[in-house]
Amino acid sequence: MDIPRIFNISESAHRIHNPFTPEKLAALGAALRMKPGDRVLDLGSGSGEMLCTWARDFGIGGIGIDMSQLFSAQAEQRARELGVADRVMFLHADAAGYVADEKVDVASCVGATWIGGGVIGAIELLSRSLRPGGIILIGEPYWRQLLPTEEVAKGCRANSVGDFLLLPQLIVTFGNLGYDVVEMVLADQDSWDRYEAAKWMTMRRWLDANPDDGFALEVRAELTAAPERYTRYGREYLGWGVFALMPQ
Ligand code: SAH
Repeated sequence: MDIPRIFNISESAHRIHNPFTPEKLAALGAALRMKPGDRVLDLGSGSGEMLCTWARDFGIGGIGIDMSQLFSAQAEQRARELGVADRVMFLHADAAGYVADEKVDVASCVGATWIGGGVIGAIELLSRSLRPGGIILIGEPYWRQLLPTEEVAKGCRANSVGDFLLLPQLIVTFGNLGYDVVEMVLADQDSWDRYEAAKWMTMRRWLDANPDDGFALEVRAELTAAPERYTRYGREYLGWGVFALMPQ
């Protein structure tokens, strides 16, 4: 069980697999006003940077679940590095349908809402692990402006314009589902650059080290296309944010 290999290559050097800088991740943690001992469940936890740094900085504990074997191993390594391995745990597993045995204070799915079949399904899934009065975190893309064509959506790696909403529409969706939006931290173009442009160096180094790998042609094609595609489309049109929700 694993995710498509291109991600395990292009994001192998990322600690945060999203358009957030360490500063934005820390700002989000502070914004949530967690207390030492609070429990966080993170579906699609990647390399565990959110749980590990929040355990270090805010004293929380929790569980992360991720389908990438590499990212899960990196998460455990990071927990040891930051001295929080006794408080956070990472499972290499499919998080679809995962419900925590004990209800948590914060239930999150940050940049992996397909685990629940989309934003609505992810919120429903997370709500089953949430204690009364707890907070759901959803990290999700949105369109920064109206899209002129379907070609632009494809350039942003979406299947169609309908994949995402404008920011106010996304906010309205949360309200319609019966949730208050109580906090948010948004990516910006500079933090997007850290996520996207860092993949280019990683792919280039991988190609230099693995010229005869059967996957090299695919990585080469991606490295050739990605910088132009990102600057033409994603950087201008795609936003991303993490939204903190509480049931009304
Ligand atoms: N939240 C993390 C990772 C976001 S990237 C961060 O912000 O850094 C999306 C993550 O979802 C990847 O780590 C990928 O391995 C994971 N993923 C994809 N499908 C999954 C599934 N069905 N179950 C669990 N994790 C999944």
